[in-house]
Amino acid sequence: MIDFRSDTVTRPSDSMKQAMFDAQVGDDVYGDDPSINALETWVAQQHNFEAAIFCSSGTQANLLALMSHCERGDEYLCGQQAHNYKFEGGGAAILGSIQPQPVENEKDGTLCFTKLKSYIKPIDPHFARTTLLSLENTINGKVLPLSYLAQARDFVNEHKLQLHLDGARVYNAATALNVEITEISQYFDSMTICLSKGLGAPIGSLLLGSTALIAKARRWRKVLGGGMRQAGILAAAAKIALAENVSKLKQDHANALYLAQNLNKINGVTTNPDHVQTNMVFVKLNKPSCIDHLVTALKAKDILISPGHPIRLVTHLDISREDIDIFIDEISSLIAQYQN
Ligand SMILES: *Cc1c(COP(=O)(O)O)cnc(C)c1O
Repeated sequence: MIDFRSDTVTRPSDSMKQAMFDAQVGDDVYGDDPSINALETWVAQQHNFEAAIFCSSGTQANLLALMSHCERGDEYLCGQQAHNYKFEGGGAAILGSIQPQPVENEKDGTLCFTKLKSYIKPIDPHFARTTLLSLENTINGKVLPLSYLAQARDFVNEHKLQLHLDGARVYNAATALNVEITEISQYFDSMTICLSKGLGAPIGSLLLGSTALIAKARRWRKVLGGGMRQAGILAAAAKIALAENVSKLKQDHANALYLAQNLNKINGVTTNPDHVQTNMVFVKLNKPSCIDHLVTALKAKDILISPGHPIRLVTHLDISREDIDIFIDEISSLIAQYQN
């Protein structure tokens, strides 16, 4: 199978499986798992935060961040397209009694400070208390500029808000900008990282923040059913993901560009290679009504894509240059049929 649906489909490498096999473990709810403890200390240091907590998923890590920054009746500002608004089942509202205040994302994924300011509520019993700004990087494959992050820091300082980053794919952002991860993380009070996407771990995300914030998150994680026991098996995978797979993201980005450039040569297909910044390519067809057929016909050839218009294609560890060439050949002949 050549699977373009997401970078979540990556499977653990042999070295990762070996590390999981060899992991020292204990009961992490008692704080006894040496692999989890070492991972949390190491990642906090690597990203210049005081503390870190290992979580079952990015959704859980974002929810813990929101519930630790905000009290009942608070609100967070975020993008209309933000994962932690749109794609996490309304968890902040359901489980945290926290209200989102979404703001339309600009074309480049940023949020306009003038618009954000207009949504900050006065301190008054009529209103929820605005306490947090949550950004996402990358967002739909786009990288937020470092200059924008610096402005966001100034903005939250001026308005006495906290600043969170949903950094599910923050290593893709650092790779695209060719900077150390701390060049990005330095602006935030908290940040999440997904290990189970392009970094190739089977399970797991991290939340980073101050000692006090992570202590709160640790309590909420248990309340939400996320207290795990011999989780060191997963910490071992996480360690390999960060140590061995960050450097491979560059290849995913190069592959995405190659994919976009070659798709664009096909009559009836449009991508914008100039807009490919990381590992995602968005594709439009001149005959969108053919998409369902395309999905089915490709599946018969062991190629998986998600339906949608534009179609989102994601490159990752388990997709090679040769796989992309195979895909280009198959999709070219299918699209040619639709043109008649
Ligand atoms: C995938 C993703 C998440 C959630 O991660 P899960 O592990 O799927 O829960 C959060 N934010 C962004 C931007 C993501 O892409």
